[in-house]
Amino acid sequence: MLGRQGAGKGTQAARISERTGYPWVSTGEMFRQAAAEGTELGLLAQSYMERGELVPDDVTIGLVRERLTKPDAQEGVVFDGFPRTRVQAEALDRMLEGQAIDLVLNVEVPENVCRQRLLARAQIEARADDTPDAIDQRLALYEEQTRPLMAYYGPKVATVDGLGTIEEVFERCIKEIEAATSG
Ligand code: AMP
Repeated sequence: MLGRQGAGKGTQAARISERTGYPWVSTGEMFRQAAAEGTELGLLAQSYMERGELVPDDVTIGLVRERLTKPDAQEGVVFDGFPRTRVQAEALDRMLEGQAIDLVLNVEVPENVCRQRLLARAQIEARADDTPDAIDQRLALYEEQTRPLMAYYGPKVATVDGLGTIEEVFERCIKEIEAATSG
């Protein structure tokens, strides 16, 4: 799944995972979990996350490579927040060894709406990377590094309008998934 931070990607990815049975693989969640556990990986990731920067590609790719060896990932996964750079996308292609990516769902929400949602979330969740500076940095990096992946994936990309209720956006996502996987 592609989409700005605050577009509701994570919410939709978790629901899509529930509906399809494919596990939800969120690199952001994995990094936050590792940080909470205080592992070496977690502490390293935290230093980048706090500043709103991307964790280095080799670290992120290593984490995903390991995740994909788990039994539950053998039939498919729902990626959320990965890949975020061209280097990651190319590494993923190599990891998949010819197994196809069915669909790249792009959840589109205007930047100002995302910024407001992230600032609101900051009040509730107090995530270290939801400070105004880190939010601006993350949104800028999205445009610079992640949006170009739409061109990388070309015809695999389906853009859904991310404005509306969670249920409405979910229905739009499901429609695209059905269209991409039927026949
Ligand atoms: P997220 O919850 O997806 O917004 O991710 C939170 C933070 O984790 C990001 O701002 C990055 O610092 C880090 N992160 C998550 N996924 C990646 C990725 N694919 N590549 C690099 N850093 C990532």
